[in-house]
Amino acid sequence: MKILLAAAEATPFIKTGGLGDVIGALPKALHQQSGVEIRVILPYYKKVAEKFSQQVSDVFWTFIQVGWRRQYVGIKQMVLDGVTFYFVDNADYFGSRDDVYGYADDGERFAYFQLAILEVIERLDFVPDVLHANDYHTALLPFLIKEKYHWRQSFSAIKTVLTIHNIEFQGQYDKGLLPDLFGVGTERYEDGTVRMAGCFNWLKTGILYADQVTTVSPTYAREIQTPAFGKGLDGILRMVSSKLSGLINGIDTTLYDPMTDAHLVAPFNAADLTGKAVNKASLQKRVGLPVDTDIPLIGIVSRLTYQKGFDLVIDEMENLLQKDIQIVLLGTGDPKFESDFVQFSQLYPEKIAANITFNLELAQMIYAGSDLFLMPSAFEPCGLSQMMSMRYGTLPVVHETGGLKDTVLPYNQFDGSGTGFSFANFSGYQLVQTLFYALDIYENQPDIWRDLQKQAMTTDFSWDIASLNYLTLYQKLLA
Ligand code: ADP
Repeated sequence: MKILLAAAEATPFIKTGGLGDVIGALPKALHQQSGVEIRVILPYYKKVAEKFSQQVSDVFWTFIQVGWRRQYVGIKQMVLDGVTFYFVDNADYFGSRDDVYGYADDGERFAYFQLAILEVIERLDFVPDVLHANDYHTALLPFLIKEKYHWRQSFSAIKTVLTIHNIEFQGQYDKGLLPDLFGVGTERYEDGTVRMAGCFNWLKTGILYADQVTTVSPTYAREIQTPAFGKGLDGILRMVSSKLSGLINGIDTTLYDPMTDAHLVAPFNAADLTGKAVNKASLQKRVGLPVDTDIPLIGIVSRLTYQKGFDLVIDEMENLLQKDIQIVLLGTGDPKFESDFVQFSQLYPEKIAANITFNLELAQMIYAGSDLFLMPSAFEPCGLSQMMSMRYGTLPVVHETGGLKDTVLPYNQFDGSGTGFSFANFSGYQLVQTLFYALDIYENQPDIWRDLQKQAMTTDFSWDIASLNYLTLYQKLLA
């Protein structure tokens, strides 16, 4: 079975969020678990070149047509953990820019990337049995196979999967892109198939054209079929519900292991948590909070957006800070949230440290050194941070939505089960009540706290399990 994963990011090459984690870990696990021949294709961003130019090798170069433009395509490759990663190199679109997204011509950049993929796979001698697209950046691949490359015989047996990692980003563009960049007519726009709210909508197109559509948790798969979560695509998703499923993500448990994580100052595991306190003290020192391992420390590592529920946190901050707690925040995003958190950290320097930056090392120190991890997302397709925090014995406090609901088992005081704390209604009141409840247990019932930490740390969040769901899906498609 040959699988090609196409995506805009993958660890360790490039990551801006959960998509990068998934595309980095899933192929490695699938390869190890089942021996499936799985390869990945990514853009060759400037940041990838800076770190990996010595390790990648040139495969070939060619030119492709992007509408009327003739564009250079360099193919590079690197094998990592038994998985071949291909990179599409073009200095203009990827190699000369500091960031991954956020450019006025993102539509053209990812149009080029998708066309390049389909133009090179024959020459790479890797026409896959399953072409697996991820998010809007590659969502048009199923459409292009059927509407642009239908004449290419070697493509006729390709099955397609589209995974929605976040339905918020849909790739909404002018219909002019169809002829101008993709070299196809506008018929499918005019008849409504690829149109949504007056735009050429890439994610909608992918949902309709892919053979299977998945998202990253069973709860989110149900939620996006409702108007409250579907971001306008709920009707389409209900229509194709028979090919829609929710497959929960895993985390890379070898990378995220408190016994071996190089970013930690002391290793620890579920059987012996003494090293966790050492990490806590070191974290407090590093972020400038008073070093006192008795004070409960609440960690936040996140994009600072409405999705992640930070309006609730900001609204309730004065209230929360009346307690004897510390908060360490790491995140970037909405400037309003950034400045709100900075202001609070200036008002209460003893209680809150705001690190407005992207820093993978500090993230690990927060997962390891905190007692609680706050993640009150309004919606959450899967969420990885809560799994990482549980792996490090840091109990998450979450809103029961999407993957948070599927991965965090709320503490049950009657049978002692649980791996964290959760609240059902998205409100500041419930967030505060749940956090205060968790703090009460932390302070007054340390034995129960320790049990919850152990239960969280020994829950299997590995891709060993999660990747098998993808294997089953691929097998079903090819049967
Ligand atoms: P999303 O993909 O919606 O941003 P996830 O929880 O699925 O959320 O994944 C977020 C990933 O990005 C996690 O690995 C988290 O540790 C990481 N991350 C988020 N913000 C930062 C940051 N400021 N610095 C370092 N890592 C971050």
